[in-house]
Amino acid sequence: MQWEDLTGDEFPEAVKQSEQVCLLPLSCLERHGHHLPIGTDMFIGRELCRRTVELEPAVIFPDFFFTQILEARHMPGTVAVEAELVVRLLENTCREIARNGLTKIVLVNAHGGNDHLIHYFAQIQLASRRDYVVYVPQPAYQAEEPTTAAQWETVIDDHAGERETSMILALRPELVRLESLPQDGEGMPLGRLKSLSDQAIYTGIWWYADNPTHYNGDGRPARAEKGEAWFADRSHALARAIRAIKDDKTSKRLQDEFYDQAEQH
Ligand SMILES: [Zn+2]
Repeated sequence: MQWEDLTGDEFPEAVKQSEQVCLLPLSCLERHGHHLPIGTDMFIGRELCRRTVELEPAVIFPDFFFTQILEARHMPGTVAVEAELVVRLLENTCREIARNGLTKIVLVNAHGGNDHLIHYFAQIQLASRRDYVVYVPQPAYQAEEPTTAAQWETVIDDHAGERETSMILALRPELVRLESLPQDGEGMPLGRLKSLSDQAIYTGIWWYADNPTHYNGDGRPARAEKGEAWFADRSHALARAIRAIKDDKTSKRLQDEFYDQAEQH
C-alpha cells in the first residue's frame, strides 16, 4: 500500500491491515559513477519496500530523499540539505506518520551514507516522550542467502558497483549507461588516508579520500538477473523483520516506562 495511492477514505483500513506499520524509504540524490542515475538509491529503496509489502502488508511512505549526503556536494546533481534540517524533517515526518495512526515506523535505508544518521536518529527518540516507535532493520548485517551471496563476482562493491548496477539493470535498464563503465579501475579505493584507517581513525573526508568520483567497485559483471535475485532475497529478509516488528509489544512498553522515569527527574 503506497501512502499516496490511497484515498482518504481508504486510509484507516490500510492502517488496520498494516498493523500500524509504515515503511519510510530513505535515499538521496547522489552521483553513482558515470553509468547509473542520480536517483539510484531512491529507485532501490522504493522497489525493496514495494516487494516487501507484497509479502507482509504495510503502508509505504513516499521517498524521503533529504538525507545525509554532504560528501557528494562537489558532484553535479547532489542535493545535500543542512544536517540539522535532515534530523528535524525526519522527526517531523515520523510525528505526522504516527498522527495518522501508523505508530510503528520502519526506516528502510537505501543509502550507505545514512548509516550513522539512522542509528543516531533512533537514539534521540529517547529525548522526549512520543507515542510511536522507530525501528531500524539492519538487513546489511544479515547474511544473504548462499545462492545470492555466491553470484557476486567482485569483492569491493560499495557504490555503483556490481550490486547497485545489477539492481538498476533489473528495475530501469534504460537508465544504465553500460558504455560509460570505466575500464581503468576507477572504482578501486585510492587509500589516500590509509595511515589513519589502518589505525581505525575516522574522519568525515574518508569517503572522498577513497572514492572522489563516487564510484566504489566494478559494475562490469552486473546483470539484471543478479539484481532480481538480490531484491527477492532482501525483500524476504525485510518481510521477516516486519513480522517481528508487528509482534513487538515490548519496545513501546519499555519506552513508556523509560519516559515515566526520566520525567520524574
Ligand atoms: Zn547507492
